[in-house]
Amino acid sequence: MKPWIPSLLQPLLHLLYPHYCEGCHTDLLLRESLLCARCELSLPATGFWEATNNPVEKIFRGRLSVEAGAAAYFFTQDSLMQHLITLLKYKNNPAVGRWLGKKMGYALLDATRFSAIDCIIPLPLHPKKEFIRGYNQAQMIAEGVAEILQKPVMQQAMVRNQFTRTQTHQNRNSRWDNMQGVFSLRHPEWLVNKHCLLVDDVITTGATLVACGNELISVSGCRISIATAAYTALQP
Ligand SMILES: [Zn+2]
Repeated sequence: MKPWIPSLLQPLLHLLYPHYCEGCHTDLLLRESLLCARCELSLPATGFWEATNNPVEKIFRGRLSVEAGAAAYFFTQDSLMQHLITLLKYKNNPAVGRWLGKKMGYALLDATRFSAIDCIIPLPLHPKKEFIRGYNQAQMIAEGVAEILQKPVMQQAMVRNQFTRTQTHQNRNSRWDNMQGVFSLRHPEWLVNKHCLLVDDVITTGATLVACGNELISVSGCRISIATAAYTALQP
């Protein structure tokens, strides 16, 4: 293709696909998506990927045996990261999930602690909730991760059984009790002797990930690692 064609097409593409940065609203370059380079660099990376005993892993200590755990970014109130998670969960923007997943995928490729992953499992969403939202945000993230790692996403391996009440106003113990029996394995035979990467959007208390992870490691020889897009001590 001659080099002048893309430059002629650029205004047309811009009309068809509004292409502006979700952080600063400036026009994006054609090779950029979602955020400009400057806003992407401003996201607060955790540096957890190669750090043993990081805050994500501490959440699971005594509750779930994980090979490695990490989150890509810190989640804080009124931040660009909060805006991205809002787009993903409440504004019908699944592309944000794939974008975050790809960033996580590149970090995972470089992280020796996560080098032996066999498959990727998104934290299941209740089917009714997925129907209302139109997609499972963890699945979108998992697909982005899978694109980079070139590993299969096994979203049918387990299911979520019931709605849980909102966790905001419950104390820590009732949150854990509320998770009993929420997840069930549908295809445990897929997971025998596999190292699964369990993926979610934001980790706060970790209660849902612990419940899901304990089902997974009940399969013979199944080990898990956990990766989330964001980490927060706050309720997102
Ligand atoms: Zn920007």
